[in-house]
Formats: sequence, C-alpha cells, structure tokens
Amino acid sequence: MSRFRFAGDFAAIHQPDYRRMARDERVGTRAVRVHFAALGYGNQIGHAEFGPGELAQVLGIGHGRAADKAASKAVDAAKAMGLVGPDSGLRCLTLPTTQFQKGKGSVVCKYHGAAIGQVAA
Ligand SMILES: [Zn+2]
Repeated sequence: MSRFRFAGDFAAIHQPDYRRMARDERVGTRAVRVHFAALGYGNQIGHAEFGPGELAQVLGIGHGRAADKAASKAVDAAKAMGLVGPDSGLRCLTLPTTQFQKGKGSVVCKYHGAAIGQVAA
C-alpha cells in the first residue's frame, strides 16, 4: 500500500470498506449508510451514480417501489443532515470537493450531466 501526500486537512478512505458499511444494517441508520454509499461509490467529481433500484439494494432495503420510496426517504434525511449534497437522489449521491476527492476513475456523471472542471450547481 502506497502512502499518500495530503494537502490541507484531508485524509483517505478505502472505498471497498465503505461500500461494505453502506450495505451493513448493523452499521448505522439508513441516512448514515447513504453517506457511506456516497463515500464508497463516489467518482473523481464526487458523484456516485446508481442504476434504477440499485441504491435500495445497496442499503439492504430490497427491490421495488416501496424499497425505492424508503431509500428516497433515507436520502432526504441524509441531505437534511448535510451528509450528502442537496442535488442527491436515488440515481446519484453527491459530495462537494471540499469533502471528497479521488485520484482515479470516472470524471463524469451521466445523471447530472456533470464533468470534471464544471462547477457544481
Ligand atoms: Zn451525479
């Protein structure tokens, strides 16, 4: 494992661990696990995209309309607590660059039509 050279007050996380914690119902409330999903799946622009129904599955809620509604409620709670960006939803969780940065991977978000270098709304 290589060591990082950090600027400011940044630290690093291991994304696969946060993906696991997002799925583990023992870890915390669904809103907290929404935050972990944003950290675990976030790309270089701080966007974590999910397919239809995928976030409900990540959170261990299950499939279908009721599961999506419960996942949406968890995202709303996470937004209210500042755990994810205000433009977050079932299809993409966002984190501002002041909270999250990543060195490799995707630099676009199809859902929000965002790309690296663009200023988030
Ligand atoms: Zn996005």
